[in-house]
Amino acid sequence: MQINLADESNTLQLGQQLAAALHQGGVIYLQGDLGAGKTTLSRGIIQAMGHSGSVKSPTYTLVEPYELGALRLYHFDLYRLADPEELEFMGIRDYFDDEVVCLVEWPDRGADYIPSADLEINLTKQGHSRLATLQAHTARGQSLLGQLTNI
Ligand code: ADP
Ligand code: MG
Repeated sequence: MQINLADESNTLQLGQQLAAALHQGGVIYLQGDLGAGKTTLSRGIIQAMGHSGSVKSPTYTLVEPYELGALRLYHFDLYRLADPEELEFMGIRDYFDDEVVCLVEWPDRGADYIPSADLEINLTKQGHSRLATLQAHTARGQSLLGQLTNI
């Protein structure tokens, strides 16, 4: 599925729609170049799930945890990860279970240490707009796609 995101508010809106279907948890990979909108989309999801503060890019911390009511959400940015094994030392296994939401920027850098995606979103720059290509890999990912309406 492809969605054209004319401006940042469209990206936030896509985040809101995904958030509405993420209350059972799920793993979303966010692919795309620097500046493609991965953190913006994450912010849309995280704020729509009830976080009222700002959403910092976890570029240096690798992960930013959120408690959203009963739900835990982890926002990863693995761009600066030097060695995927670092994730093992961070105790990454404890982060992942069925009820958790994981948003992962630069997932390829995590190699086999991160769980596979329910949904993969690729963002590409098209001038001032962005094109989002969404691909479900699991039944949970399919149901996320099923929740999306026109933007
Ligand atoms: P990434 O995390 O992929 O490096 P960011 O979300 O941090 O990217 O930055 C995206 C930048 O592009 C922001 O400055 C944002 O304002 C701008 N932008 C312009 N159009 C869009 C759009 N349609 N969606 C998301 N961001 C956009
Ligand atoms: Mg980012």
